[in-house]
Amino acid sequence: MTTYRLCERCIMDTSDPAITFDVNGVCNHCKTYDVVLGTEPVDTALRRRQLDEELERIKKHGEGKPFDCVVGVSGGVDSTYVVWLAKQFGLRPLAVHLDNGWNSEIAVGNIHRALEKLGVELFTRVLDWEEFRDLQVSFLKASTPDAEIPTDHAIIATVFQTAWSKGIRHLVMGHNKATELVLPPLWSQGHFDWRYIREVQARFGTRPLRDFPHLSFANYVRYRMTAERSSFNILNFVDYSRQKAIDVLQKELGWRDYGGKHHESVYTRFFQASILPRKFGFDKRRAHLSNQVLAGQITRKDALTEIAKPPYASAQLEREDREYVIKKLGLTESSFEELMRAPPKRYDDYPNMLNSRFYLAVRGAYRAARSVVGRSAT
Ligand SMILES: [Zn+2]
Repeated sequence: MTTYRLCERCIMDTSDPAITFDVNGVCNHCKTYDVVLGTEPVDTALRRRQLDEELERIKKHGEGKPFDCVVGVSGGVDSTYVVWLAKQFGLRPLAVHLDNGWNSEIAVGNIHRALEKLGVELFTRVLDWEEFRDLQVSFLKASTPDAEIPTDHAIIATVFQTAWSKGIRHLVMGHNKATELVLPPLWSQGHFDWRYIREVQARFGTRPLRDFPHLSFANYVRYRMTAERSSFNILNFVDYSRQKAIDVLQKELGWRDYGGKHHESVYTRFFQASILPRKFGFDKRRAHLSNQVLAGQITRKDALTEIAKPPYASAQLEREDREYVIKKLGLTESSFEELMRAPPKRYDDYPNMLNSRFYLAVRGAYRAARSVVGRSAT
């Protein structure tokens, strides 16, 4: 068993099993943050120029078409703010939303109010609830800390397939390096991995997946080949702060706050604030707060005060969510407790894309080819 240790600079700790520390007690996440974002001050003029060039390119490719980009919306702060920004910059987005049956009323209300005010069209993909329910239970039975993988995968697949089917070449996204860089790989793996999802369902599910939006291996390759050119993370090109975004959304789009990050869905809230800390011993707020510390948005002291608070705003809300989740998933009190007691597993414990024979063969061939090229170049 490893002894407890906390980073001296951010608030990441040994709840990330793969964390490492340097001689000064600074963790690998801090190092990665510095490498990716640099320690130099941002050249705002350059960033503005890059933003203008990208906007120009998106508008040009969308000429004569009803939309020039797709934005995935969850009803949360980041994605709603992205739509607002896109409109401010003169883009013509199509908003795409995945309804997996768990979105809180506040989140859905936020989406509709905001898009109506902005005059943005919305495409909603509603999942077959009985099938999706079965898949979510399969992931709880699989006992991996990534029970949100089916939702994340379905969102990615829906957004890309909508863009491809409508001939829209660009995706404007809300990932933000400054506030979303710290995330231990062992906490969540397999977002793009259809094989993993399929295998977990084959092992634990009671029905095949017929409706579930997914990226087949061919579409995954297509995604990898085009994502770099087609995805634009607009939040990396503006001074983004979550609080500033909330102020804008509340003032201009009648947006209502619902509490924590990614709590727009009741299941996400319960999974992150109850199941993860209780069964898997980590709290995703720790990564979010560490990011904010590194981005200079809060002090380390305030982050430590925040993480010391219980993950749920109130014990009553946790009880209500728990009851709701158990009932909605068709579980019972005792079958849920049994799932909580099952020993934790990892992505690697299941057949997945990275351990498939096909992938290993392709990777082996690629490495061999590279070493031949490397040798002939010297
Ligand atoms: Zn750190």
